[in-house]
Amino acid sequence: MTGPDKSLENYDQYISQLFAVEDPVLQATRATMQQEGLRPINVSATGGQLLYLLALMNGARRILEIGTLGGYSAIWLARALQADGALISLDIDAHHAAVARRNLAQAGLDTQVEVRVGPALATLTAMAQAREAPFDLVFIDADKDGYVAYLQQAVALVREGGLILADNTLPDEVLDANRDSGAKRYNAAVAAHPALVSSIVPVLRRQGFDGLTISIKRTPRT
Ligand code: SAH
Ligand code: MG
Repeated sequence: MTGPDKSLENYDQYISQLFAVEDPVLQATRATMQQEGLRPINVSATGGQLLYLLALMNGARRILEIGTLGGYSAIWLARALQADGALISLDIDAHHAAVARRNLAQAGLDTQVEVRVGPALATLTAMAQAREAPFDLVFIDADKDGYVAYLQQAVALVREGGLILADNTLPDEVLDANRDSGAKRYNAAVAAHPALVSSIVPVLRRQGFDGLTISIKRTPRT
């Protein structure tokens, strides 16, 4: 007798079947991304469900996303918003933004989600200067080399008790002391930050696993 196939993919399927079944809107979003030539580098369904759950736990009214792609993760996150809530998502690519806006409209979320086009660091700097209202949750999922700079901005833009999440933070390099990467620098910066309490949660994907770094802003009392 042979035992069950213990591949990570099967564990992922077990979780997603129970908790992260995609509705037609999410399925159509992935189909549209493919038609429009966008790479399928969106979060998995179980990853999206984890974002949704964290946003619900945090009672999010204002969410900031860095890295929109086709709007797949934005849909999971925006569905957790309170009725009067808003999500602002940033992407450098105008085509990605256009595809995302279409998908968000299909999802009935276009009044709650705004996509801003431009290099994220410039947009974040403008947001800080404009003194935009603080965010309850920031999700970082763009170019890895920008992660540390996005972290500095995110800490300033998130409320006390708010969450900062970062995707793709368990690449192979974390096991190799001689190799560097944006995600590794991010994890180190988070660990050293006095106003953040954090950990990394492994997230299953269709292929293997990746990590989501989760931080809560908790400024020490002086
Ligand atoms: N969060 C999405 C996936 C984002 S993929 C999801 O899970 O559904 C990463 C995105 O970051 C791409 O769309 C890319 O265009 C964008 N990006 C890359 N460099 C950027 C930069 N400097 N500023 C803003 N966005 C950037
Ligand atoms: Mg990602």
